[in-house]
Amino acid sequence: MTDWSQRQKRKQDVKDRASVPNHMYAYCRVIHCGRPARAGTSDGLDERYCRAHADHHQRHGSPLKGSYTARELNPYRRAALAWIVAHEDSRWVQNAVQRVRSLYQQAGPYIEAFRLRGMPPQERAKAALARLRQHGIDPRLVVAAWLAVELILLDDPQPVHSVEFKRVQAAKVVHRMASGSHRRWVREVPSPVWPSQKQAQVQELHVYPRSRGRVLRHLGEALESAVELLVDHHLAEVQAYVREQGVPGTSAVRPYPKGWVVRRRRKDEEKT
Ligand SMILES: [Zn+2]
Repeated sequence: MTDWSQRQKRKQDVKDRASVPNHMYAYCRVIHCGRPARAGTSDGLDERYCRAHADHHQRHGSPLKGSYTARELNPYRRAALAWIVAHEDSRWVQNAVQRVRSLYQQAGPYIEAFRLRGMPPQERAKAALARLRQHGIDPRLVVAAWLAVELILLDDPQPVHSVEFKRVQAAKVVHRMASGSHRRWVREVPSPVWPSQKQAQVQELHVYPRSRGRVLRHLGEALESAVELLVDHHLAEVQAYVREQGVPGTSAVRPYPKGWVVRRRRKDEEKT
């Protein structure tokens, strides 16, 4: 069989299975939800959750708990960064920063967001790391992002302790640091008034890779592996430092001081 017909067959298989209700997976696992899990309906293969909870889980790493907002996380990111800067001779800080740098180096070529469609999630996670490298995102900001998620979970009265939630939360922050690709070009079009004449028209293309699904799990896993030794050795110390600084503070704080090498973010990139 050719590649193409194999792919067609696989596509058809998945479609067939998804459209046949599987009564093994009757109900959504979220307590009191009561809706059928997607595999228990004619709509999809998710064995655990109904459509709404499956969608929420894809986006946020938990079927119920939403993502932390930038406003909530920024004070922690800022304080974690300050701790990192104050402890740069620590062997575990150096280790984490070096590991993030290795992730950058092993991320493969820079791929514009326009070309990500159809790539497997693992490749898209690498492309996200390549974008950070391309945009000169300081590895210490990446380490601080992970620590911020660890810290906010420690302060959260209703935390979600799954590894997946933590990975997705950190990955969302890091994904936002360098996400979009932008292009602008001028082309000649017939004038609407005098069709025989040409006029210049500016065209723009802005593409933002989606911040959801398995790409966040892969990215989060890579980040965790870079920072885990630092977390093992120093999280309690970072927490004490951050408490001393009075975080969470009252007002919205930037996640890092001005002048750090990060690409300017567009307003519409703030969305999840
Ligand atoms: Zn549900």
